[in-house]
Amino acid sequence: MSHPVAVAGGGIGGLACALALARHGFRSLVLEQAREFGEAGLGLQVAPNALSVLDALGVGVAAKKHALLIERLLMMDAVTGAEVANIPCGERFRERFGNPYAVAHRADIHGALLDACRAHDLIELRNDCRVMDFDLDDSSVSVALEGGERVAATALVGADGVYSQVRKRILNDGEPLPAGAVIYRATIPAAEMPMDLQHPYPTFWAGPGWHVIYYPVRDWTVFNLGATLVTGQTPPDGDEDVSHDRVLPLFSESCATPLRVLRIPKQFRRYVIVHREPVENWSMGPATLLGDAAHPMVQYIAQGAAMALEDAICLANAAHECDGDFVQAFRRYQDIRIVRTARVQISSLMMDRLNHAKGVERRVRNSLFEGRTPEEYYDRLAWLYTAPAYVR
Ligand SMILES: Cc1cc2nc3c(=O)[nH]c(=O)nc-3n(C[C@H](O)[C@H](O)[C@H](O)COP(=O)(O)OP(=O)(O)OC[C@H]3O[C@@H](n4cnc5c(N)ncnc54)[C@H](O)[C@@H]3O)c2cc1C
Repeated sequence: MSHPVAVAGGGIGGLACALALARHGFRSLVLEQAREFGEAGLGLQVAPNALSVLDALGVGVAAKKHALLIERLLMMDAVTGAEVANIPCGERFRERFGNPYAVAHRADIHGALLDACRAHDLIELRNDCRVMDFDLDDSSVSVALEGGERVAATALVGADGVYSQVRKRILNDGEPLPAGAVIYRATIPAAEMPMDLQHPYPTFWAGPGWHVIYYPVRDWTVFNLGATLVTGQTPPDGDEDVSHDRVLPLFSESCATPLRVLRIPKQFRRYVIVHREPVENWSMGPATLLGDAAHPMVQYIAQGAAMALEDAICLANAAHECDGDFVQAFRRYQDIRIVRTARVQISSLMMDRLNHAKGVERRVRNSLFEGRTPEEYYDRLAWLYTAPAYVR
């Protein structure tokens, strides 16, 4: 292989892809637009299928070091304060899915991947490099960077996130769509979080038209808080900082506890949530898409990064099985991945109705979970939390 595989984007998906390729002996060049490699985001739920990928890439121990292996997944009714669903994530959960469920700071997961990439001879990392476009010729890909430079590559993986430039060239299907919701995010220093609200698991409050989730990260030094509000089809334009007196009135019809948490940060950052419908093709010859570039989804089952990680292993395995023929490998990779990732996109969207139910639908939602045993939950979650065979 004369040229490396170019990977556009050094987020969780791009770095995992470089690492997975290196494990099969493929050289890669990661092109990241930011001035430095890093994760600006806040908390991340890392389900067992994602942890299994991190294990397979040899970074499981480092990734789990500062993560919290949670005791349970809990859904509370924000109108009545009653418990709706309670899924234990202890020994039986770990045996069933081969890993625990963790919550972590994004930078800790990204950092574990970055350290491993930096230590690998087959991976070159370049920051301050924005991929703008690419051209194909018979035997290689010419990747165009902002500023005019061109990089020759054997293949190109577009891991450049929800506003992917590589996707524009491959699919030309316009901008991602607003999902009809915004999220207000903040961090709370542990010292400011009342002791009776500090739990070793994510606390999820399901309200009518909104939900709030918070959990500790970074060895319990800080809490990650996200408050999602359904806005309908015309959410506000762009992301912005919002003071808490503007946020609180939006989370009405609430019992006292979620409001106690929402009152703590003085400032939130609001993000418009965007997504896309699943599509049947991600590839053009030796160029393909991975992670959010391929299948951006709403965050309601916390699986976007997990899907990017699974993609990475599958893509590298396909490259290996096709003996470095990336045109064939990318066809095989998308054949394997499209149904699973589309199911996750669709399931995430369906959770909108459950997470944000109002009136009688809220009571129906609560009745669905009544009396469910841990094993019944595990059976329903098995398709999602069991890592596919190609990961294990
Ligand atoms: C509110 C919210 C909460 C979420 N919570 C969870 C969760 O708990 N668990 C979970 O699994 N998932 C979660 N997700 C989804 C998860 O964040 C994404 O699915 C995941 O980050 C996708 O990884 P990626 O590497 O594909 O893309 P990204 O993380 O977006 O990384 C893309 C990288 O490419 C770079 N880039 C972009 N354009 C270019 C370009 N043209 N050239 C070069 N570089 C470029 C970017 O700077 C970035 O570094 C959440 C998402 C949201 C919005």
